Amino acid sequence: MRRRWFLSAWPLALQLGLAFAVVTGVALGGSGVLLLGQSTARMLEERAASVTAWGQAAAALAAENTGEALTLALYRFHQQSGIRPVVVDGSGLVTADISDASPLLGMELTHPEVAAALGGRVETGTRRLAGGEWVMYGGMPVVRNGQQLGAVLVSADISAVREAQRGLVRQLLLVAGVMEIAVVLLGMLLARQLTRPLVRLRAAVAGLAGGRLETRVEPSGSREVHDVGEGFNRMATELGRLDQQRRAFVADASHELRTPVASIRALADALLTDRRGDIAVYKEHLADIVQECDRAGRLVSRLLELARLDMRSEARGTGAAEPTDLRQVAEEVVHALEPLAAERGVGLALAPGRAVMVHADSHLVETILGNLVENGLKYTPAGGRVDVSLSAAGGMAALTVTDTGIGIASGEQALIFERFYRVDKARARATGGAGLGLAIASEAAMLLGGEISVTSEPGKGSQFTLTLPL
Ligand code: ADP
Repeated sequence: MRRRWFLSAWPLALQLGLAFAVVTGVALGGSGVLLLGQSTARMLEERAASVTAWGQAAAALAAENTGEALTLALYRFHQQSGIRPVVVDGSGLVTADISDASPLLGMELTHPEVAAALGGRVETGTRRLAGGEWVMYGGMPVVRNGQQLGAVLVSADISAVREAQRGLVRQLLLVAGVMEIAVVLLGMLLARQLTRPLVRLRAAVAGLAGGRLETRVEPSGSREVHDVGEGFNRMATELGRLDQQRRAFVADASHELRTPVASIRALADALLTDRRGDIAVYKEHLADIVQECDRAGRLVSRLLELARLDMRSEARGTGAAEPTDLRQVAEEVVHALEPLAAERGVGLALAPGRAVMVHADSHLVETILGNLVENGLKYTPAGGRVDVSLSAAGGMAALTVTDTGIGIASGEQALIFERFYRVDKARARATGGAGLGLAIASEAAMLLGGEISVTSEPGKGSQFTLTLPL
């Protein structure tokens, strides 16, 4: 058994819905992360630019003022900008803040931005404080007359940036959620659209399996499903045809068997009710009974032969293939049928020639040739001829039976190979045929990988040819 993907047994709607959901989820998630990253980076950049600008303004204040004037200036600056400035000297100790009472005064600031600013560089950095708020720092050198006095550290609350980021995440999740639902619904709708014809097909298959051979579907859906629907209809038609053939066969076989049985019954009845006791009449009736028994026996053995061939062809057998000389088989058949030919006053001969070897079941070849020659003898009036000839060319062997008999109208030529088909029922009955000989022959030919063809002209004669691969 083929291994199945673990979800493959789920209804298609669920599989498609899930696949759509995963694909959209990955796509939306990926682009969301990208978008979020980019927009946050831009907001932080903008903020850093403004923090730097404000920081430089604070550094200018620190360069121009000292003492109380500086504290006041810093206080005003803070009021105006919302940015907290702290001034440090060359060794990082706080020398001024926005208030005289600032606990920071005299303390050493260890922020990396301060260290950078004391080194003459402008630097910003973002950090999260213990209280949870986000802060952006900026360190600026304080320079007067080309000489660095110290540095200014400015800090700005950037919680708003984080808040905006969270808002964006919420929006993205909302959009993604709505799109996921829409996409899953779309997937399920699509799956329903796809499976609707399949569901109808499933019902039709169940109908057919339940014996309703007239079940058909209206092919619909995608090209593939449509084709399956058409295939189903063809299969159902073929099944119906086979079933019809089977019924006809049983009906024909019963009908054919009933005739001799009815005759035997009538003859036996006549014997029972006969009061004259004339032994000659008895003998005549009994001879008729024997003849009818023979007819029924022949029919049964032909039916059996056909059934055996059917079974072999169902089992895809080719029979006991063995090196077979077609000439030898033809000689045997002609020899066996010489008495019948003599009885009917018809000439029978095999054209001389070389041996033709094939790899085939000789019994099947014999059956075919026997039927063809017997037919030639049956349907050729006294004084006519039946000739058998043998040839080999192009990888094929051909056995030809030519007669000068009554011939077959072209409209009938394809039908004579069907079971129980007889061109002239009354005449065939008189010759003892039930219409099975050619059916048996063509079935046997098929088993041998060959075929039988016929050419004929009414009133002039017929030619049957069996071709076999060499
Ligand atoms: P049957 O047992 O009736 O001969 P076949 O299947 O052998 O059945 O042949 C079917 C019908 O084909 C015959 O009833 C006959 O009408 C016709 N047929 C077969 N062979 C010949 C032939 N050589 N010449 C004329 N008609 C033939």
